[in-house]
Amino acid sequence: MNKTISIFLILFVVITICVSQDTVRVGAFNLYPGIFLDVDGEVKGFYVDALNDLGKKENIVFKYVYGSWEQGLARVKNGEVDMLTSVAVTEERLAYMDYTSTPLLTVWSEVYVNPNSEINGILDLEGKTIAVMKSDFNGGFLKQLTDKFDVSCTFVETDDFEKVFELINSKQVDAGVVNNTFGAPKSVQYGLLSSGIVFNPFDIFFTVKKDTNQVLLKILNTHLYKWKHDLNSVYNIALQKWSHDNVGAIEVMPGWVRKAIYSVLLLIAILMIFIGLLRYRVKVATRKVKYSELLFKTFMENTPAYVYIKDNKLKHIYRNRMVDRVNKVQPSNKNSSAKTIFEPDIVQMVEKTDYEILNSEVKQTNLQYQCKLNGKDTWLHDYKFYLRLPNSEAAVGGVSFDITKLKETEFELIKAKEKAEESDRLKSAFLANMSHEIRTPMNGILGFSELLKQPDLNNKDKDKYIDVIEKSGTRMLNIINDIIDISKIESGQMVINNQALNVNHIIDDLYGFFQEDAKGKGIDFEMVKGLTNVEASLTSDSDKLYAVLSNLLKNAFKYTFSGSIEFGYRYHSTKTELEFFVKDTGIGIVESQLEKIFERFIQAEIDDKMALQGAGLGLAISKAYVEMLGGRIWVESEFGNGSTFFFILPFKTSEAV
Ligand code: ADP
Repeated sequence: MNKTISIFLILFVVITICVSQDTVRVGAFNLYPGIFLDVDGEVKGFYVDALNDLGKKENIVFKYVYGSWEQGLARVKNGEVDMLTSVAVTEERLAYMDYTSTPLLTVWSEVYVNPNSEINGILDLEGKTIAVMKSDFNGGFLKQLTDKFDVSCTFVETDDFEKVFELINSKQVDAGVVNNTFGAPKSVQYGLLSSGIVFNPFDIFFTVKKDTNQVLLKILNTHLYKWKHDLNSVYNIALQKWSHDNVGAIEVMPGWVRKAIYSVLLLIAILMIFIGLLRYRVKVATRKVKYSELLFKTFMENTPAYVYIKDNKLKHIYRNRMVDRVNKVQPSNKNSSAKTIFEPDIVQMVEKTDYEILNSEVKQTNLQYQCKLNGKDTWLHDYKFYLRLPNSEAAVGGVSFDITKLKETEFELIKAKEKAEESDRLKSAFLANMSHEIRTPMNGILGFSELLKQPDLNNKDKDKYIDVIEKSGTRMLNIINDIIDISKIESGQMVINNQALNVNHIIDDLYGFFQEDAKGKGIDFEMVKGLTNVEASLTSDSDKLYAVLSNLLKNAFKYTFSGSIEFGYRYHSTKTELEFFVKDTGIGIVESQLEKIFERFIQAEIDDKMALQGAGLGLAISKAYVEMLGGRIWVESEFGNGSTFFFILPFKTSEAV
């Protein structure tokens, strides 16, 4: 029961509240941003926000009846609406409306134009078409003003301010008049400018139908007063919000100030772009310079050459790391010069050319010199040239290369060339000599064979001639054998044939063989054997040993005319080798030839050969044989006092093999 009573009580209160809520009809029209019809079909604006807030507090529902300004005025007049907003005071309106005692705003009329318009003053309106809102106070006043100035122009009437701006924007009219509250934010949207024609500041008020709605008027007055005196009142906040944060304040500025601001802003923007561009270009240029500097440094520091620049006092003003590193010059030692690097004689030469480059016509030089760098013998190729420094002073630039390896190769090539030339010369001389060596015995053979044909030849002469033919034949055979042997040695075809042999037997054989020569020349001929016949057994190539000893003995007899010839061997137990020798008291050998006589074809080169026969191959063959048997050969001799040829062979017994 109690519950039912409570529900009834609540319903009663709600119904009472609903019934006691007053509805107030407001004549609405487009007066952006105070009151206007939004695209969603709702009436909005700062008057609307403020009135709605007031409604909540005073239990009033505001209903908006939208139409044109003129319709709004008509509706309040005939009681279709209870109140209007934004109404200026005129005699006529005072007759059918009561005004709030506090004005809503003080506004003024402003003529708006397109940005390229030439309308700057009231007189410029002559002959122009101007849009005005029907029954609008602003339009009415402009008409009075143009009449007063005797300016004739055509007025086109529209239903609201929005239309006025649309007509200006679409260039259907030259100008239009609205109040500044609408003009300031909307001109931005339409891209219009104030012409500077500003007039008629006036207050606008809320109005109600005359002598009716006095309660409403009182409420409006009370709130309006509070709103106007409180910065944070709903009215002021809504005003700011719908005016787009003070856009209006900017728009009321004189046109030239705005233009000036735009120009300054544009100038600042251009300047900033220019500075940005300049910075970018400087950055790019700096990066390029840095890169090329780094490239130069990398190249210079890694180039395998010594690069330097000397000033006109010959002090280094630049040198790459190579110079510092090789010369152990501290990079910090900026005053280093040639003196700190080279020996005095090189310094002298280097500085002489430096001065020449600085002071004479010679503007570049190429030097090659040997010096000590870092303690090592080094060949340098130094290319120097004249330089003019950025401060216009003369200087010497230089690039030096280490050509030690190149020089070594060059020297080797020169040596090889000389050797090749010499060997070529020796071969030519050998061939010339050989033709002589062959022709002589051939002439002997042919000449004496002819003589043998004589019919009355006695036996004694016959034997003599046959002997000459035999000797010439033997000589020819020896020469041919020598040539064959040296060819085999040269081509590596000569083989060693080791076998057991008895040295004493070979010595005995040779001693017997040369007995006749010794007797024929009246020379003492001796042999020496270092071992007993039993001990003298060893392993070697007996043909080669025989050939070497026989060659040396042949030479000894060839070049000895008196005195003695001694040959044989001695045994060195410690060294386990046999030392052979052939000693004569013959003509001897000049010191300069001692080394050469073992070279091939040397006979033709020896000046003092005393026209003794020989192909100059005997000693070369002997040397090759001795070395093939693992030994070595040499000679000791004094010119005019005989010679002794030695050679040693390893003593390997047959058992040891
Ligand atoms: P050849 O067969 O022409 O004698 P060798 O090669 O045997 O050539 O000797 C070369 C040169 O050495 C000879 O031409 C000679 O000048 C010199 N020679 C060799 N043996 C003697 C020696 N016992 N006494 C003086 N000169 C010698």
